[in-house]
Amino acid sequence: MERPKAKRWLENVLALARNAGFAAASLDRAYDLPLLALTRPAPGPAPRVYLSAGIHGDEPAGPLALMDLLRERFFDDRFTWTLCPLLNPAAWDAGTRENPGGIDLNRDYRQPRSREVRAHRDWLEAQPANDLYLSLHEDWEANGFYLYEINTTTLHSLAETILDAVEAVIPRETGSRIDGHETAAPGLIHHRPEADEPEYWPEAIFHLKRYPHLSYTFETPSARDLVTRTAALKLATQAAIDGFFEIRANAESP
Ligand SMILES: [Zn+2]
Repeated sequence: MERPKAKRWLENVLALARNAGFAAASLDRAYDLPLLALTRPAPGPAPRVYLSAGIHGDEPAGPLALMDLLRERFFDDRFTWTLCPLLNPAAWDAGTRENPGGIDLNRDYRQPRSREVRAHRDWLEAQPANDLYLSLHEDWEANGFYLYEINTTTLHSLAETILDAVEAVIPRETGSRIDGHETAAPGLIHHRPEADEPEYWPEAIFHLKRYPHLSYTFETPSARDLVTRTAALKLATQAAIDGFFEIRANAESP
């Protein structure tokens, strides 16, 4: 799968998003590329779902999965949506984890040094709280799919639903430790709402410090082909959102 340059890719995403009823905002520009946020309100009161991808430029499946879902009009009237489809556009062009300044943006959310995260943080701080957070990542060291779950709500976990859905294309990562974390079940890491290194907050921790919600970070194994990894992240996202709709409906019915 040939990757277009970030500039053209973002133009394509913008066109698809507008077709799917989203409004677009450019939060700032970094390395002469726009930092794009997309929002689509539900027609009435509805929970808020936040999705982000592309914070690491060497993890292309996440942005591609969100683009496919936009094209397929997956983002419907059930929720109010916020999408940040490519948080580190210059790293996408470079094919690197860090931005061209050598900063890992997903460790930069406590006291941002990067222009990208400063703009993202400032914008997020003016937004209402989200009920569900999904972040799409990839892992060079993994052989299977896994996820981080951080649940600071009383809502039921969606982890098994998500892992089951992804198993149609990628099995779960095995082993009792993944990326330095003990697993709660195959492919599942229960994380505290705290950063592993207190000075270096990932994006997920920044959101968790602001308000309680259900948080998932998905990780596909980079060794698999890009089409399969993109399919896995789509399945994970769809399962999380469909599952979240169900548990919210159940929690609200008497
Ligand atoms: Zn990543």
